[in-house]
Amino acid sequence: MIKVTTPLLPDLDELHGLLKEVWQSEMITNCGPLHERLEQELADYLKVPYISLYANGTLPLLAAIRMSGVTGEVITTPYTFIATSHAIWWSGLKPVFVDVDPSTGCIDPDKIEQAITPNTTAILAVHVYGTPCDTARIAEIAERHHLKVIYDAAHAFGVEKDGRSILTEGDVSTLSFHATKVFNTIEGGALVTNGEEMKKKADLMRNFGIEDEVTVSAVGINSKMDEMRAAYGLVALRKVEEAIENRRRVAMHYREALAGIDGIRIPEEQKGVKSNYSYFPIYVEDSYRMSRDQLYEKMKAAGVYGRRYFYPLITEFEPYSTLPSAACGNLPVAHSLAESVICLPIHHKLTDMDMETVIKQIKP
Ligand SMILES: *Cc1c(COP(=O)(O)O)cnc(C)c1O
Repeated sequence: MIKVTTPLLPDLDELHGLLKEVWQSEMITNCGPLHERLEQELADYLKVPYISLYANGTLPLLAAIRMSGVTGEVITTPYTFIATSHAIWWSGLKPVFVDVDPSTGCIDPDKIEQAITPNTTAILAVHVYGTPCDTARIAEIAERHHLKVIYDAAHAFGVEKDGRSILTEGDVSTLSFHATKVFNTIEGGALVTNGEEMKKKADLMRNFGIEDEVTVSAVGINSKMDEMRAAYGLVALRKVEEAIENRRRVAMHYREALAGIDGIRIPEEQKGVKSNYSYFPIYVEDSYRMSRDQLYEKMKAAGVYGRRYFYPLITEFEPYSTLPSAACGNLPVAHSLAESVICLPIHHKLTDMDMETVIKQIKP
């Protein structure tokens, strides 16, 4: 069986060594020494000024919304994992869906302004598949309308544009370190901020808003990463560069082998972007010799488990489906991507033989 991804596991002996330190210190959570070390190492690796670790990738979305004082309506994309819009809804806010750009799958800046109302206070965009949004256009629109910008960067670990981390764009960015992501701590996540003040808020948010023994200054929620997961992350981080390099090799091979097949569209690589090769989406268009779902089933029958990320669109699910912005006619591009996409297996352990098996299913 060829899975779409497999977790990047840390070396067991090295992990054991670090866990011994945890046992000796008897500090198992509440921002212990390994937690602090992982924050520092991630800040260095990702080239970001401030990062706050979280227990998963959904809680920093909630924290980002709350600490940015977002109210009313939030402009967002339907072409993402359900956590993105759930974070808006869970916060008691209204998502307003905007269509996406067919070449990137990210929110289409040309469609944002017409969705802004007097109640709009923020844009929650997603660097889907790790492909950077048009951050310059989004920043310009946000500035003109006094909106906060939050990036769900769950797919964008280590992604750079023109030599700068994509995670420094917007007011805050969030990461997921779930087992299925390029870098994982089993469950985990982070909030990336650009200033000391925001970092302090992000730290308060994850620990009930507790400042010190006698001061609680915000309505925070428990979303701390424990020392076991920090240890796992520290050891896994040593292997992430090599894992991304292996993913790059897979992506290059697919790109070459699947080029020029009638009805198979592969998104172009963006100029100036250092990718993490977290996903490899292909779009099965009408001129292909079978439908997307037929190809998906054919692959499965041969033991190749691609995934139809992101199908169905978020706007097909309750409670979003009845919102005016969820109407099909408002989101034609997102619908066409959702109905034609298959994400091919890509991970650090995929072998040449695996790749050939995948390619054989698609090539005429
Ligand atoms: C994985 C993911 C999340 C949520 O992350 P968890 O760590 O599973 O909570 C959020 N947004 C997107 C786009 C994701 O892919």
